[in-house]
Amino acid sequence: MTQPQANIGVVGLAVMGSNLARNLASREGNTVAIFNRSYEKTATLIEQHPEAGFIATSTYEEFAASLQKPRTAIIMVQAGRGTDAVIDALTQVFEPGDIIVDGGNALFTDTIRREAAVRSTGINFVGAGISGGEEGALNGPSIMPGGSAEAWQTLGPILRSIAAVAEGEPCVTHVGTDGAGHFVKMIHNGIEYADMQLIAEGYDLLRRVGGLEPAEIAEIFAEWNTGELESYLIEITAEVLRQVDATTGKPLVDVILDQAGAKGTGAWTVQSALDLGVPVSGIAEAVFARSLSSKPAQRLAARGLPAGSEEWSVTDRAAFVEDVRRALYASKIIAYSQGFDAIVAGAEQYSWDIKKGEIAKIWRAGCIIRAQFLNRITEAYAEDPELVALVTAPYFADAVGGALPAWRRVVSGAALAGIPTPTFASSLSYYDGLRADRLPAALVQGQRDFFGAHTYKRVDQEGTFHTLWSGDRSEISATDAH
Ligand code: NAP
Repeated sequence: MTQPQANIGVVGLAVMGSNLARNLASREGNTVAIFNRSYEKTATLIEQHPEAGFIATSTYEEFAASLQKPRTAIIMVQAGRGTDAVIDALTQVFEPGDIIVDGGNALFTDTIRREAAVRSTGINFVGAGISGGEEGALNGPSIMPGGSAEAWQTLGPILRSIAAVAEGEPCVTHVGTDGAGHFVKMIHNGIEYADMQLIAEGYDLLRRVGGLEPAEIAEIFAEWNTGELESYLIEITAEVLRQVDATTGKPLVDVILDQAGAKGTGAWTVQSALDLGVPVSGIAEAVFARSLSSKPAQRLAARGLPAGSEEWSVTDRAAFVEDVRRALYASKIIAYSQGFDAIVAGAEQYSWDIKKGEIAKIWRAGCIIRAQFLNRITEAYAEDPELVALVTAPYFADAVGGALPAWRRVVSGAALAGIPTPTFASSLSYYDGLRADRLPAALVQGQRDFFGAHTYKRVDQEGTFHTLWSGDRSEISATDAH
């Protein structure tokens, strides 16, 4: 029988698992056992990376026997049924005190369910969000683990050793119990959707209104990447826009079909936010923008519909570019503010003690939304841990305030010119809604009371009221009416 030599194991050796296993093996003190359902991937990995010193196993029994106790295994398999199958198999061969980590993109409610089921066997289960794609898995991802504090004791040092490092600090923290890690990873992905769509809208305006070519816009993005917008997504956007298609010689962006795909985590964020009653409008619009792009039949049918638009002629191009930059930055602040609102609401709903500032910190490197800007979020929560909305923190309020004239020019200009800017516009509307003295919600309450006797509250008296709309139109207190 195989001697228990490995301190960590990886199950699932497709793109993510094989890179994560190599990352683990490259850190001092780690010996990594590997297992994949079909042995072929295991054989390929040991052949291609003899330097990693992997312990290859071909059955779950052999895998368990190769691990020192408490056994710790990270699963990187297809989310959903694949994950359930591997958890079932591992719980058969593991013992109480051992740790199973699901590093895949699981829905957090599945993680809550799995954690409870595995915990009943005495085995620890940790759902860990791992961001950064293939490159992050190999060189250092941002890791968002949930699970018990006991499991974190064993797991913490291992995850810290493989995580990305930002300003000397590993990008991993114990997010909270059971599904907290996967919940925060889901919100990360939702914010990523919004950030990408905002950048895309900015590009579209620079191209269609500013008359700039992709290569010129690439230079603008590269320049923006040296300021407050500095981020991985801005950086790679410049690279994408610079790329020339080898076949046609055209900018690659012009030969890519304009139908955006999605793997579902953005939709999960919006669905969860709807359940929690949190308006994540920027994220929702970004998800819907991808859906709209991927409706070729509808788009074709609507192509000839009237535009009713006006020419938007830009006289000062540099000023226009700066307006777009400011609109992008302000909208981005709203997207993050909404994302953190969802984290706060999720923490409350599921009793997770999530440190918002720590989350911003672990997103500073290794993940897709990594950005300088996240330091400002950490600072805002450090100054006021009970901050009710990120956008009200002095730094962000000033930034948005300074951007407002530009933001309004861009959104109104785009509306007049017939250019869609769903995330720019919805973020501005959200901001105006949040800061409004009075909202037309009062009228909505009146309508609800009219057709459904749903009652309303008054601004000048305590209690709950209902109006007899079709009778003498007098108002009665609902509490009295019982
Ligand atoms: P994947 O394509 O999602 O899954 C393939 C792996 O799952 C293979 O190793 C496959 O084994 C295994 N598998 C599927 N069903 C199984 C079952 N019933 N029993 C045992 N193993 C099973 O792989 P991936 O792209 O590397 O992603 C792994 C996880 O990381 C996923 O949850 C994904 O959502 C998440 N993730 C991916 C990225 C990314 O950029 N790709 C980023 C973050 C997170 P066989 O080889 O035997 O078929």
